[in-house]
Amino acid sequence: MLVLNNIRKEYINKDNHTKALNGINFNFNDAGLYFVLGPSGSGKTTLLNIIGCLDKATSGEMIVDERNINTYNSLEIDMFRNENIGFIFQDYSLIPHLTIFENVCLPLKVNKISEKDIYKKAKDLLEKFGLHKEFNKYPSQLSGGQLQRAAIARALITNPKVILADEPTGALDSENAKILMDYLKEISKEKLIIMVSHNEKLALEYGDIIIELVDGQVKDVKQINALYNKKREKKKNKFKLFSFMTSIKLSLRHLIAKKFRSVFTILGSSIGILAACIVVSISNSMENYSEYAQKQALGTYPITISSSLVNSEKPDDDKKEYEEYPDTNVINVINEYMSYYSHVNFFSNDYIEYLKGLDPNLYTTMDYGNFLSLNIISKKENQYSYVGNTSYLKEVNSDQTYLESEYDLLYGDSYPDEIGELALVVDKNNCIDAYVLNYLQIDYKGIDSYTFEDICKKEFKVIFNNDYYKYNESLDRYEVYANEYDENKQKELYDNAKLTLRITAILRCKKDAENKLYNPGLLYTSKLTEYMHENNSNSDIVKEQLKYGLDKDVLTGFPYTDTITDFYVMKKEYKLESNLKELGYYFSISYIKIYTDKFENRTLINEYLKAYNNDKEEDRKVLYNDYMGNLTKEFENFIDILMLVFLIFSFVSIVVSGIMIAILMYVSVMERTKEIGILRTLGYTKANVGMVFLLESALIGFMSGVIGIAASLLSTKPILKFVASVVKDSYSSTFDVSTITSSKFNVFQLLFILIGSIIVAMIAALIPAIVAAKKDPVKSMKSNGV
Ligand code: ADP
Ligand code: MG
Repeated sequence: MLVLNNIRKEYINKDNHTKALNGINFNFNDAGLYFVLGPSGSGKTTLLNIIGCLDKATSGEMIVDERNINTYNSLEIDMFRNENIGFIFQDYSLIPHLTIFENVCLPLKVNKISEKDIYKKAKDLLEKFGLHKEFNKYPSQLSGGQLQRAAIARALITNPKVILADEPTGALDSENAKILMDYLKEISKEKLIIMVSHNEKLALEYGDIIIELVDGQVKDVKQINALYNKKREKKKNKFKLFSFMTSIKLSLRHLIAKKFRSVFTILGSSIGILAACIVVSISNSMENYSEYAQKQALGTYPITISSSLVNSEKPDDDKKEYEEYPDTNVINVINEYMSYYSHVNFFSNDYIEYLKGLDPNLYTTMDYGNFLSLNIISKKENQYSYVGNTSYLKEVNSDQTYLESEYDLLYGDSYPDEIGELALVVDKNNCIDAYVLNYLQIDYKGIDSYTFEDICKKEFKVIFNNDYYKYNESLDRYEVYANEYDENKQKELYDNAKLTLRITAILRCKKDAENKLYNPGLLYTSKLTEYMHENNSNSDIVKEQLKYGLDKDVLTGFPYTDTITDFYVMKKEYKLESNLKELGYYFSISYIKIYTDKFENRTLINEYLKAYNNDKEEDRKVLYNDYMGNLTKEFENFIDILMLVFLIFSFVSIVVSGIMIAILMYVSVMERTKEIGILRTLGYTKANVGMVFLLESALIGFMSGVIGIAASLLSTKPILKFVASVVKDSYSSTFDVSTITSSKFNVFQLLFILIGSIIVAMIAALIPAIVAAKKDPVKSMKSNGV
């Protein structure tokens, strides 16, 4: 039983006030064919919409099976409609981009029914209405009569209690109208059919009851036939919120129906994704390059602590600001500047011990530049002269395997190993600078090149302390036996020397060597150092100095004293230590180089080295500037900023593609207003409708993502190759371009972009989807075209 109690419906617009329904009271039986007749504008459609719960009455109540519909919430109303009401419209209202079969199945897609059952029901109904051949045809391929029969099949598939038909024969010829009416008559034995019509003849022929409506009021009711007393069976459809697959199908079909626009939108937004992918790949390769550049920089420029530091940075708070281009007649003396002007690093044994405490995992090699002061005389063009302590003459790092792994033996039987053996290191062009030869007291004037054999004839003599220093009894001090101007005495020392050094090997740095520890020059063995240390320690002058300590400088005969000037303080302890280094008792260190292969490690090492100075007096501090480290840090920051720019760029391109999708979706919602209306009449909820659009957008996002990623996978190689070729032209150096091109996407980044693309598309579709969900079903049904 469906009861209408004083139903009123008023439309209040700006300038007119229409009473579409003006107090309708009526009781409908559970079965029978009811005709609603009346002139145009009398309120027939309005009445049908209110019974179908597409529209809300302004006042009055509708009671179905003893329940007042006014008490239903919006979800319950949607469920009620899906379960109880089947609509048939004059214009058939089938969705054009779905097949007849899919259209018929649509109402059940929001029910918890298996696909198999849906298929069976739809097939049975379509066969019943003579449409078994039209299953997979689209609405545009069918005649009006066939379409209206399909519409009845769709209205019946949920097995509703009520069929509402709004002028269903209006667009049919009389023959098809008759066929349709025969079907409806048959159905009305089981169900309540309320049919709106103009056609009084049809009403009289088929109707059981005729209701005449005029100006929104029931004017007359005629009973034509006795009504069947059909008792309704209780049934309850299981409702579900939405079917993912149906939504996807609807979206996909719609995208296919609007092929060109879909393809352009997908391509358009995939360009955004492509841009994002390319940016990611470039930033990947930038990171590769940055790592490469760091390795290069770290390998070539170790942390270097020199024995002295010139022009070290002054602390900021000490800086006094002077005006630029002042207009005064005053000259400023920058006093504090001098005390920072230079600093002598004293590499004490204490400091060396501290260095040994550095975590060995932080560095690859540590080169002390450790040397023992040696007294060496060279014979050059029949002249004799001392070879000073120079960085061109240094000890081989005691790790012999390192030398063998990084340096090729060009000439000689073996790498230097014995006390008297020297190796000459040449550069990659087999060159050695004349000034290096000059330092080493090797002939170079008028000589363009040496053969390996010739240079290997060169000899040096080592003079022991006992021969080099002689005690002067009258002055009670030691003196150098042969000073640098006394050629005869030097010759005497040279000829009588007890130890000879010979060049026995020529070495060259390997092509792929990581660290170039040794510059061109001479290398001697650590055995020589050990031997000479032993010898020096047992020499008279060293024993004397150790015996007197601070009480007497054996080279002056006077006690040690502090030297204090305006600019520096030199403590007597420091002088004693310096003398013992000079005499080859203590080791001297000209520099310390620490090689790392990671920037973080370099920072940690710098921190460790700085910490040494914390509790030290000014003259015992070890200071250095890690310019290269700072530069690398700057470079890192630069790369970071570049990455940020890239990130913003890719973000913008994704947002642009999002906006494109949003526009498309909005157009889509506008276009599909009728479809939205149809879905609502079939009992789809607002959420279902919104979901259709969200999923359609997600589909677009997914496809743009896939296309964008595929395009980027195809295009990044040539793009990076191009970049590399540009870089190669501007970099003549050994820069390895493959670091830029070798970059690969990582799967997670691509996945991230794909998911991002889907999410952005869904966010973009959010507002259009909400607009769609909120659309009024009655108004939507009135819009033309799907
Ligand atoms: P019928 O179906 O009998 O031709 P309707 O039910 O469509 O009549 O309309 C009844 C009356 O309500 C008409 O006067 C019509 O102009 C008016 N009407 C219907 N829908 C609206 C609306 N959305 N806004 C304003 N007036 C409306
Ligand atoms: Mg109408």
